[in-house]
This record gives sequence, structure tokens and C-alpha cells, in this order.
Amino acid sequence: MSKIIAINAGSSSLKFTLYQMPEESILSSGIIERIGLKDSIFTIKYGEDKKYSVTEDIDNHEIAVEKLMTQLVDLGIIADFNEISGVGHRVVAGGEDFKESTLINDDVLEKIEALGDLAPLHNPANATGIRAFKKLLPEITSVAVFDTAFHTTMPKENYLYSIPMEYYEDFAARKYGAHGTSHQYVSERAAELLGKPLEDLKIITCHLGNGASITAVDGGKSVDTSMGFTPLAGVTMGTRSGDIDASLLPYLMDKLEITDIKEMINILNKKSGLLGLSGVSSDMRDVETAAEEGNERAQVALDIFYNRVQKYIGQYIATMNGVDAIVFTAGIGENSAITRKIIIDGISWFGCDIDEEKNNVRGVERIVSTDDAKVKVVLIPTDEEKVILNDVIRLGK
Ligand code: ADP
Repeated sequence: MSKIIAINAGSSSLKFTLYQMPEESILSSGIIERIGLKDSIFTIKYGEDKKYSVTEDIDNHEIAVEKLMTQLVDLGIIADFNEISGVGHRVVAGGEDFKESTLINDDVLEKIEALGDLAPLHNPANATGIRAFKKLLPEITSVAVFDTAFHTTMPKENYLYSIPMEYYEDFAARKYGAHGTSHQYVSERAAELLGKPLEDLKIITCHLGNGASITAVDGGKSVDTSMGFTPLAGVTMGTRSGDIDASLLPYLMDKLEITDIKEMINILNKKSGLLGLSGVSSDMRDVETAAEEGNERAQVALDIFYNRVQKYIGQYIATMNGVDAIVFTAGIGENSAITRKIIIDGISWFGCDIDEEKNNVRGVERIVSTDDAKVKVVLIPTDEEKVILNDVIRLGK
């Protein structure tokens, strides 16, 4: 029986979801973490609540893919490799080349590698994952699903920076955004839940996880998004600063005696956001707990997080000249009722009103605003793997 696997290869991790076709039911899912480091952790969930977990050194993504496939056979999840008829890979940066998901051939793979400048941590890892699967399963349908594709509908006034036009024309310096697969999925689901055609709706989607981004979706198309040339821009995130004045860079480099700009960018990517502000953690749960216990820095971190999301929502209401629904998704958006409540309470003037009882849930698809609120607030658990699966099915035909 045929199976399809969705792969999300990060710089040091590889996540997978294995689907049984044609039912599209999840047979197994899991993650290999700390690839290339000592004591990699390999976890597979399967059957009814069964879990396989082992800690061993896994040196690179190619070995990770081999181990994964072998383990799927050993655990009896697949009988042999030939049962897998298609693989879909999440790719972070597709630049201007990839406006939609595509079948992977040598040319596509080369382009993905060449786009490494736009996502230096992610695209090389994505490409390694693709190569590893191609080596092991050369004949199967192989599809790349790009995080940026959904945002390629943005108009020029939203994707261009106010810098000399030649930098866009000569070097493709522009906004690309990210999390597109998630924004696309939750906006489509929200329209279904609201019982209205997507084409008629103005939706603001808030993907609030470790990485966070806000998107204005007008008639089903992304018209603006908070991440920029790279996923560093936009709202405050777990460890990323989001938007800052570029002039801070030379100033801080001087004060901190940093001579390599990469080191400074690394601080903005890895040591800023909730972590840098609170000094406690990058994890929202820890920051919420610390704030409850009276930690003032943690409270400031939370206030800034809410504030940045609210500001983007305000911007996007202006961009679209209106909004019908605001959607919350990803780890924080799906699980933190208090985050949704505080963000929405602070922008009630626009006609949003949270129903506290309905909002008091985690990870279920539902409308959480009051019945007569002008702007609907919707909670939609994201499912990027499902989008990858659908694209493999569509392109594999
Ligand atoms: P990633 O970008 O790594 O995929 P996720 O979407 O998994 O991130 O989101 C991780 C974030 O979700 C973390 O900040 C985590 O604290 C937060 N989160 C998960 N569960 C809860 C919860 N119950 N309350 C508040 N935040 C939560």
C-alpha cells in the first residue's frame, strides 16, 4: 500500500510525518534532533501511542535519513522502502524563482542550494535532506514546498524596501517572508469555519511560535507579511529581535567591540526576543510563569510581544482597508489563551471582542470571538505537513 512522507529538515534536525494513502491518515511521525552533535535524539511515534526513542550519534542528514528509513522497516511501520511513493520537502527560501510547490529535479535542487544566501541556516539543510532521499529512493515523486511561495503574491509596494532600486534589480534584495505554508493553510481553514468564500475575506493570520509572523491575506492572497528578506524581521520572537533600526548595528558593534557583523546578526537571531528581554527563557510558557511570579523583565518581554503583534495587526487593517477575521495559530497562538485575550482586548476599537469562555481552550479549531463581534477571532491549529501531503498528491499525478 502506498505511503507519502513529509520532511522538514532543519539545520540540526529532521522531522517527518508518514501518511497512509489513500486514506491520508497519519501512520507515524517523529524527529531526529541534534544531528551532527553528540547524542542525537531519535524519536518515532507510531501505532496507538507507541513510541521508539534512542540516543546515539548521527553525524549528518544523510545518515539520519538512512536510519529513519531502516527504523521504519524494523518497527514494522513499512514493509520495505518501495511502499513509499512520494516525499514532500519543506524548503524555507524559494526566492522569486518558486511561486508554488514544484517537482524536484537536478535544476530545482541546484536553485534551492543557490538560494542559500536568503536562508543560510535552512536551505542547505533542506537540500541535504532532499539529496539523502534522492539517493535512497531515486524513483519516487519528490516535491519541494516553499515557505515563501504563498507570499509571492505581495505587491511591489509591500515587498520592496525603500533603498536604491538597483539593489532589488541587481541583487534581489526585497522582502520574501516565511511560514507561507502555515498562513495559507490557516486562512483557508478559517474561511471554511466561517462559512464564507475565501475570495471575499480580509484575514490577518498570526503564526505565533518560536518563530512568529503576521500576514495580511486579502481574498486568499498574501498581500503583506511581517518577516522580511530573512525570518529575522517582524514581531518579537523566541530568540529573534524582529524589527529594529539598522543603525543600532554599528553602534552596538562599537560598544560590544564586535568586528564581525555575522556575530551581531547572530545575537539578533539567537539571543534576542523573549529570551534577551526576559533573561529567563525563549519559551513562552517559562516567560509567562516567571511573569506570574513577579519577574518584571519577564512581564516587559510579554508586554513587548503583545504590543508588536497588535501593531502589525493595526498595520494590516490599514493595508487591506479592513479585516473580517484575525486568526491565531502555532505553539503560542494555539495554546496561550491569555496571549490571544490580551492582544485582542487591546485592539477592541476595531470591533474585535473575545468570548472568554470560548477562548479558554488549547489547540482546537474554533471561533473564539463573541457572536456579535464585527471582526471574528479564530483559532486554527496549523498543519504544514498536510499542505505538503496535498502538494505531493497533486503534483505526483
Ligand atoms: P516552532 O516555531 O519551533 O515550530 P511552535 O509553534 O512549536 O514553535 O511554538 C513554540 C512556542 O509555543 C514556545 O514559545 C512555547 O512556549 C509555546 N507554547 C506551547 N504551549 C504553550 C502553552 N500552553 N502556553 C503558552 N505557550 C505555549
